[in-house]
Amino acid sequence: MNEPHDEPRTDESPRTMGQQFGRRSWAEPWRIKMVEPLSVPSREERREALEEAGYNTFLLPSEKVYIDLLTDSGTSAMSDRQWSGLMMGDEAYAGSRNFYHLEDAVEKYYGFPHVVPTHQGRGAEHLLNQVAVDEGDVVPGNMYFTTTRLHQEMAGARFVDVVIDDAHDPASDHPFKGNVDLQKLSDLIDRVGPERIPYMSLAGTVNMAGGQPVSMRNVRELRELCDRHGIPIYLDAARLVENAYFIQEREEGWGDTPVADIVAEICSLADGAWMSSKKDHLVNIGGWVAVDDEDLFDRLRNLVVVYEGLHTYGGMAGRDMEALAIGIGESMEDAYVRARVGQVRYLGGLLQDWGIPIVTPVGGHAVYLDAKRFYPEMDQEKFPAQSLAAQLYLESGVRSMERGIVSAGRDPETGGHRHPELELVRLAIPRRVYTQAHMDVTAEAVKAVWDRREEASGLEMTYEPDFLRFFQARFRPL
Ligand SMILES: *Cc1c(COP(=O)(O)O)cnc(C)c1O
Repeated sequence: MNEPHDEPRTDESPRTMGQQFGRRSWAEPWRIKMVEPLSVPSREERREALEEAGYNTFLLPSEKVYIDLLTDSGTSAMSDRQWSGLMMGDEAYAGSRNFYHLEDAVEKYYGFPHVVPTHQGRGAEHLLNQVAVDEGDVVPGNMYFTTTRLHQEMAGARFVDVVIDDAHDPASDHPFKGNVDLQKLSDLIDRVGPERIPYMSLAGTVNMAGGQPVSMRNVRELRELCDRHGIPIYLDAARLVENAYFIQEREEGWGDTPVADIVAEICSLADGAWMSSKKDHLVNIGGWVAVDDEDLFDRLRNLVVVYEGLHTYGGMAGRDMEALAIGIGESMEDAYVRARVGQVRYLGGLLQDWGIPIVTPVGGHAVYLDAKRFYPEMDQEKFPAQSLAAQLYLESGVRSMERGIVSAGRDPETGGHRHPELELVRLAIPRRVYTQAHMDVTAEAVKAVWDRREEASGLEMTYEPDFLRFFQARFRPL
């Protein structure tokens, strides 16, 4: 097992082999105990399904999908321990023991003593923004996220992007493209005044930039700047474990520190965090918001009963909270995170070997195809990334997601499309679900679309919802 080949291989690239001569491979630290059959719909079925879905991959029935890389959210495979945790659900309306397990796990790994459970991340975003934000406030963040920004705006704030410029450049190979540009933040504070900034919104990793991490050094410097102005930092912790892995791998001085300790260190520099447990935590549903401040906690705990459920379940069943509490611990194991990020990188490596334009460095949870370089002639208002996601599905039954002009939505002030720098298609990898062979098939499908890229003509939007339009918008080919 894992022995180097005895014969040098010269005919294939190291990434394709997964193992270069003289190098040792890693493998997943788990084996498969239960399987879910998959089938490939025919080309004709895919064509029909795509038309019925209005060329929006969110509207495809999952039965018409072969390899589903729409999202890594809530799509993870649970472990045998988590499944047995489901049988230990205490479904009491109040004071379920599973809630106390969850509270213990959050405090142990994230360090925040006060935890309010929610049904998923946006439930937590809603509560936090309703409590923290006043009309006319400004919330700076290291790039927007769709639901996050919407909840900030719905609470009366304006979002201002303070991520470094490299984050908007898909070809930059900055190792920490999620970093905050402290000069941009400092200028903003001078412009609007610290009293108008209820908190700094800090995501690690940054989803919309391609799953790019923030460095520990940047978080420390950010803390100092915020301390000077009395501004709290709240973390969007959806993929903080993956962020911690990149710090361990890339940042000087952290190579020997376990991922769990790096997560704890980042949290010690923040005042609170909200969580979509559907990401890092290896569960299909769940979330929370956790804070240091008791007063803020009281207000969150009061609001949760209005929108989510009692403060000891927040929209989750007892069994969900148990699976989540166990998943938090599993997500922090170094061997697990290495294999998780390694699988994503494997897929990205195949595409890079074939010269297909992707966001580099490859991020933690997904490979992002650069639709602007894929279809350089296509106007952004013809929705290049949306078109590419549709083509990929048609070609192969692989489902991906648009992260470009459709996701960016309209500017609330002008009503026009926002034109993001990044026009991307995301291939998000569910955790512990697919094998390396699924990654090979996916890469070959992308290659087939790449080879016929001249044929693409773009889309026009035929239906546009008011909020988070990417979920339900419909299109037709031009
Ligand atoms: C998914 C996600 C959210 C929202 O969480 P949901 O569980 O989908 O409601 C917030 N922030 C980031 C970075 C996310 O990826």
